[in-house]
Amino acid sequence: MSSIWFLEGIRKGRKTEKFPKASPKEPPLWPSRLEGKGEVDCPTNAIDNNAWDSGKCVFCRRCEQSYKPSLDQDIFTVKDTNQLFRKSFYLYKLDSGSCGACNVELGTIFDPQYDANRLNIFTTNTPRHADAIVVMGVMTDGMKEALQKAYEAMPDPKLIIALGTCAISGGVIGKSALPRDQYNVEISGCPPSPYTILKAISRARGD
Ligand code: SF4
Ligand code: SF4
Repeated sequence: MSSIWFLEGIRKGRKTEKFPKASPKEPPLWPSRLEGKGEVDCPTNAIDNNAWDSGKCVFCRRCEQSYKPSLDQDIFTVKDTNQLFRKSFYLYKLDSGSCGACNVELGTIFDPQYDANRLNIFTTNTPRHADAIVVMGVMTDGMKEALQKAYEAMPDPKLIIALGTCAISGGVIGKSALPRDQYNVEISGCPPSPYTILKAISRARGD
């Protein structure tokens, strides 16, 4: 049976994109950078004084009359980089109560289309082998201790990455127990697209 899939793979050829060296093949409209102006009734106050904060946006489209998606996938903030991570970059997932979608999109970057392994990006099930913790879901008081213990178990240098609006700002749930300035990297989206995740993680390695 496995030989059938092997032959099918040869027939279809290589499917992995060259992203992030090349432009995304089919970037999604939602989520992407919103452009426009005007005040709107935003459920998460992502628009304030005509300024859009991607870290608060849940991409609900309520503002679509005034703010249009641009296809730009670069909706992330990288505050700290380290070139040591270029040879190998191991991610430890910490789900503090996500809906599951951020988790799925993070897993997608390891699919054949994006193949994060070719960029020396991997996952690990122990913080002792991790270079970065990826937090998903709203950080709660109860999970802060788990985050602290995991962070202390990691070798230096190390990063904390907020994946998705819940982790960054609390999203529709409310305030996160972890202030935004505690994160080294913020990856916006609800959930973020694989392109945004891959580019942000690459940038954190100094690419
Ligand atoms: S898409 Fe929704 S959450 Fe985002 S800015 Fe517009 S109204 Fe606010
Ligand atoms: S940011 Fe959106 S997709 Fe991610 S856990 Fe929160 S609600 Fe789910």
